[in-house]
Amino acid sequence: TISMVAIHSSGVMAAGTSTNGASHKVPGRVGDGPIVGSGSYVDGEVGGCGATGDGDVMMRFLPCYQAVENLRRGMSPTEAAEDAVKRMLRKYPRISSGIVVVNAKGEHGGAASGWTFTYAVRGGNMNATEVITVPPVDAES
Ligand code: ASP
Repeated sequence: TISMVAIHSSGVMAAGTSTNGASHKVPGRVGDGPIVGSGSYVDGEVGGCGATGDGDVMMRFLPCYQAVENLRRGMSPTEAAEDAVKRMLRKYPRISSGIVVVNAKGEHGGAASGWTFTYAVRGGNMNATEVITVPPVDAES
């Protein structure tokens, strides 16, 4: 799965997700990737999000919509991502998920469950890529 959140120098934001889907998926399955608010979501005034993981469960929670709304309510990108993941973990303790959140200022953060998630950031100068490793969160922390 490839998710991207981009901020143009004009401030316009975009987000999107492309995925091969789940392993052993049934023919015709539509996963979370194309579901707005689940695989990705963006509000250019606030921020954007991309997601990967157990899409059949994640699409019930719209974690990217939740994370962007969390930004709107004042959370940092990491707080916004962790809250969205914990909401899923409370109902599905074994879920594998990873989400990346970027606010309109370009600050970013991620959260994961069930595995260690990595995402890459290419900053405003476009001259270096940083890889961020996000360990799984604990539902109760
Ligand atoms: N979320 C994708 C899906 O369920 C799979 C993935 O992200 O690895 O289709």
